Amino acid sequence: MDLPEAAPPVYAATAPLDLVGLDREALAAFFADLGETPYRVKQLWHWIYYQGATRFPAMTTFNKALREKLAESCRVSRPDVHQLQVSADGTQKWLLGFADGGEAETVHIPEKDRGTLCISSQIGCTLNCRFCHTGTQRLVRNLTPAEIVGQMLIARDHFSEWPSPKEARRISNVVFMGMGEPLYNYENVAAAIRILTDGDGIALSKRRVTLSTAGVVPMIARAGHELDVNLAISLHATTDDVRDEIVPLNRKYPIAELLAACRAYPRAANSRRITFEYVMLKGVNDSLVDARRLVKLIEGIPAKVNLIPFNPWPGAPYACASREAIRAFADVVNRAGYASPVRVARGQDILAACGQLKSESQRLPKTPAAVRERNSGDA
Ligand code: SAH
Repeated sequence: MDLPEAAPPVYAATAPLDLVGLDREALAAFFADLGETPYRVKQLWHWIYYQGATRFPAMTTFNKALREKLAESCRVSRPDVHQLQVSADGTQKWLLGFADGGEAETVHIPEKDRGTLCISSQIGCTLNCRFCHTGTQRLVRNLTPAEIVGQMLIARDHFSEWPSPKEARRISNVVFMGMGEPLYNYENVAAAIRILTDGDGIALSKRRVTLSTAGVVPMIARAGHELDVNLAISLHATTDDVRDEIVPLNRKYPIAELLAACRAYPRAANSRRITFEYVMLKGVNDSLVDARRLVKLIEGIPAKVNLIPFNPWPGAPYACASREAIRAFADVVNRAGYASPVRVARGQDILAACGQLKSESQRLPKTPAAVRERNSGDA
């Protein structure tokens, strides 16, 4: 009986070096070590981030010897998909698993002719905002550039959005509004943004990337100068007393300092709007006095105010403001000349809406068999 030919070395899942998440300088050094020219970087970038390739045999602009060498010593990683949930409104939430067993969530919010990917920057979060579910999670660590970019790659794979389309359809915008505080993981988030916006690959426009922060003041200026992406501020209160309580980071960087950083943000100086997020909590921050104070606080800043009806989660200590209170609040902000859309909650049925993300890494069964079993249960 004829035996089939031995398969060529393909994808070595256990090979050490992950090529995803490395910047161009690191890749150049890597290829130099292999005795290859710097031009290889451009070619590899094209395969990974333009074509979406994960297997070296497919990288046909490399000669066979190089393809084999890469296959032996490298990989092009993807996070594992531990769970994918789809909401009645089309919103999807991935629970992604990383090499150390940690998990984080990524949400896709489809709209007509476009869609937003809501990316996590950390597993868990250290900020403990009192209304946010993520803050109740025990395990916290920074995500690596590969793990941050990997969220985009997984979503692109899912929608078969390769090669990178000129006019992005399903994933046109990225917001760092998932789990974690991106400015507490600045270096890795910056590295990931540079990869996502690199014109030779995924080529997301900087105008379509939004960094959301609870107000890590010293890092705001740095992000503005180095990354030049849109800024969103999770403001949520108009007095330091209330903000100290619901966003404890305020005790370190109070409202006046935060707004001064916003006024100095380079994009704002160019009349690009900063988004202020404001979660509407019944009896806490939803009065007309608050609304008037808010417009005074942000006076002179090109801004838009996103009013977010509070999304409940099990055990949350707050309730959502009434529909009337939200409307009246929005009117005051609007009359002062600021767009004040009330955010429609998306994906609530799968706990994918703002502030509802919480992976359960600490209770995750670690063995591959247990994970498989869990996944089959979800199907
Ligand atoms: N740490 C960053 C990134 C997280 S963004 C930041 O704070 O901006 C997540 C957004 O959802 C923030 O504006 C957050 O304040 C808001 N949010 C958190 N919990 C919420 C809840 N239960 N209902 C509505 N919005 C919530």
